[in-house]
Amino acid sequence: MQHKNFKNIDKVVFGRGAFHQLSEIIEPIRKENNHYFVYIVDNYFKDKPLSNQLQNKPEDLIYFIDVDPHEPTTEQVDTLRDEILQKKGLPSGVIGIGGGSIMDIAKALSLMLTNEGSSTQYQGLNLVKKPGVYHLGVPTISGTGAEVSMTAVLTGPEKKLGLKCDYTVFNQVILDPELIATVPKDKWFYTGMDTYIHCIESENGIKKNAFSTAYAQTALKLCREVYLEEGSGQKPENDDKLMVASLMGGLSLTYSEVGVCHALSYGLSKILGYRHCYANCVIFQHLEDIYPEGVKDFKKMIEKNQIELPQELSKEWDDATITAMATVSYNLPFMWHHAFGDNYQQIATLDYIKSLFKRL
Ligand code: NAD
Ligand code: ZN
Repeated sequence: MQHKNFKNIDKVVFGRGAFHQLSEIIEPIRKENNHYFVYIVDNYFKDKPLSNQLQNKPEDLIYFIDVDPHEPTTEQVDTLRDEILQKKGLPSGVIGIGGGSIMDIAKALSLMLTNEGSSTQYQGLNLVKKPGVYHLGVPTISGTGAEVSMTAVLTGPEKKLGLKCDYTVFNQVILDPELIATVPKDKWFYTGMDTYIHCIESENGIKKNAFSTAYAQTALKLCREVYLEEGSGQKPENDDKLMVASLMGGLSLTYSEVGVCHALSYGLSKILGYRHCYANCVIFQHLEDIYPEGVKDFKKMIEKNQIELPQELSKEWDDATITAMATVSYNLPFMWHHAFGDNYQQIATLDYIKSLFKRL
């Protein structure tokens, strides 16, 4: 058996106000390449106090990016790369400040600054040839685990797939729970539930092991404290917990695997454009037979936090749409294998996967 050999983040700083250490952290890196940094910042912060606390120097380039119209694309990253290289040549590093979308753009950009051609060529495992420039992530919404993962998920003309390799992982992450305080409640719930679902899926499958379980159990406990138990809700001490849970959930799935909800979620995102965390929530409520305990608590969390999820979506979908979504999901065999075991091909047939979509 081949065991996973995981590249972790080089350095992590955690704590309230840790963001103010940014300039000190990047100073030694400024001697690299053309002595400037590229900031990729979520557009939400454009007119907010954070935009005056970026600790940038006059030579640095700052891009505020609106992540709401669509999830990050290969074209978006390629265009940004071309523009930056043409303007100022190779930067010392890239700093991403935002959610999973910004994390993925920053990670992919760092790689594409040193690797020729289009990022579509590198969607997949270990296709990237050269290390990227230094890259630093500052999450401002917690749950996806993108801050710790080995992948930068991009949607291309043909597929939604990550640039996955050792070089993708951040050199530095700054975890400052103060930065997630402004997340609106619905997004706080959906994105946090991504971590919860990562852990449930990581735990319920053949690839789980003592390493993935240790992270999952701790992250699940934190999720219950943040979303379910007495003292739950959006407040500073829970933001601290959620930020740690997100990182641990990401580590858990790295050492194990995600399962049925994520396989379906990729289909829903690719074909109908649903966003990752929201898609997971829309799907997970219907998987009680597969993840009984996990879904039971999930429903309690929905109720406790007064979240409304859409029902009877599939009534509006024709067979071609359902088949297209099921085909995307079917083509993620490692997730089905993890969830259903060596016999998975007998269970996770295209018809079965279509039947799961019809539950929505
Ligand atoms: P996001 O980056 O898509 O942002 C969601 C929304 O929250 C946006 O409207 C954003 O402006 C807003 N926001 C972010 N921080 C805020 C703050 N502090 N205050 C107020 N609003 C804030 O969110 P996400 O859910 O973290 O990321 C989803 C993306 O992550 C998807 O594109 C998905 O494909 C990707 N993803 C990547 C990985 C990975 O391992 N690389 C894993 C899971 C998901
Ligand atoms: Zn996820």
